[in-house]
Amino acid sequence: MDKDENFANYTSRGYLMNQGILYRYSPGSKEEAQLVVPAQERERILQEYHGAPTASHYGVENTYKKISSRYYFQDMKKFISEYIKTCPECNRYKPTNQKPAGLLRTPTYAQWFETLAIDRFDPLPETPMGKKWIFIVEDTSIKWIELFALAEATAENCAETLIEEVLLRYDLPRRIISDNGPQFISAAIKLTCDLLEITQELILVYHPQANPSERKNRDLKPRLAILVGEKHSAWEDKLPLIRFAMNTSVCDTTGHTAAYLQFGRQLRTSDYMRHDIRQVIDNDNFVFEITP
Ligand SMILES: [Zn+2]
Repeated sequence: MDKDENFANYTSRGYLMNQGILYRYSPGSKEEAQLVVPAQERERILQEYHGAPTASHYGVENTYKKISSRYYFQDMKKFISEYIKTCPECNRYKPTNQKPAGLLRTPTYAQWFETLAIDRFDPLPETPMGKKWIFIVEDTSIKWIELFALAEATAENCAETLIEEVLLRYDLPRRIISDNGPQFISAAIKLTCDLLEITQELILVYHPQANPSERKNRDLKPRLAILVGEKHSAWEDKLPLIRFAMNTSVCDTTGHTAAYLQFGRQLRTSDYMRHDIRQVIDNDNFVFEITP
């Protein structure tokens, strides 16, 4: 084939070659170039973006969004879907139709950190550190989530955690809402407000009819079940990893990851650190040339 013709063919389809590495980009798009992945690397990428603890076994759509922000290969979605269908951990955990415990389905407020939702997860097997409870704090606008392991989910423990780890780090919200354990929740809120000497509006939102897709997206339970596996008291160690996975996964409601809305950029994964595309592109030696 004529060299120029070949060149035009490849560039118009958005491919470019640099130092033996093939990239694909959408001309005019703000998206970063995707690294074109050779067949033998695909398993590794799936492991990294689906099976690794920091990815926490999300479903096809979410895994696809994560991978496609960096990588490209033919029939990528099909490959991802097949991979997840046969993932042993995903298969071992059989999701049931029963109402997922704990996590909130909350109204979305426009303003960042205006309204926080708090909740607790059902008591879990006691860890070596004596923790049994997960206390959940979520910003209802960007869906940023914080997870804390507590020995007892008392109003005092929750209020203290809320103040020290969330409010004094991020901001003071206008509202704190909950839809679970109203006595404990209202006690925790009251204590928080008293300690901070602020007036808070309390809204109790009881479990509304669940929207299954959003439920699934926000569901902590399968992530815990898969990551903890057979070792039931190991969940405390996995909690920060699950939090990372949740904050870096695209949320149905906002269409973005919570991390992106929080920091204005996506968080770097360990894969990103090892295979940094930008480093290659920003390199002075980088030449936009094509080698079909
Ligand atoms: Zn899986």
